[in-house]
Amino acid sequence: MRITCPYCGTRSSHEFAYLGDATPTRPSPDTPDVASTFHAYVYERDNPAGPLDELWYHTAGCRRWLKVARDTRTHEILAVAFARKDETSLPEGME
Ligand SMILES: [Zn+2]
Repeated sequence: MRITCPYCGTRSSHEFAYLGDATPTRPSPDTPDVASTFHAYVYERDNPAGPLDELWYHTAGCRRWLKVARDTRTHEILAVAFARKDETSLPEGME
């Protein structure tokens, strides 16, 4: 599988570290049933068949988090963007 990093270009997926589903949002620590809410956030994940937004880290490249839309049935990459919306250039010291 090949992933096109917005900064580095098309690279083998072996250059990346996979985190997983990008859709869960970290719950507030003020949530009434915080232990079970955090347990669900950390451990309980769906396993959808089809398009899914995932987080990948470009370990052997620009060392940035990417949001990759991938079809889990075919591994087709549908879209790639920096995970942080305000990122458009390299981090300091990487020029
Ligand atoms: Zn990169």
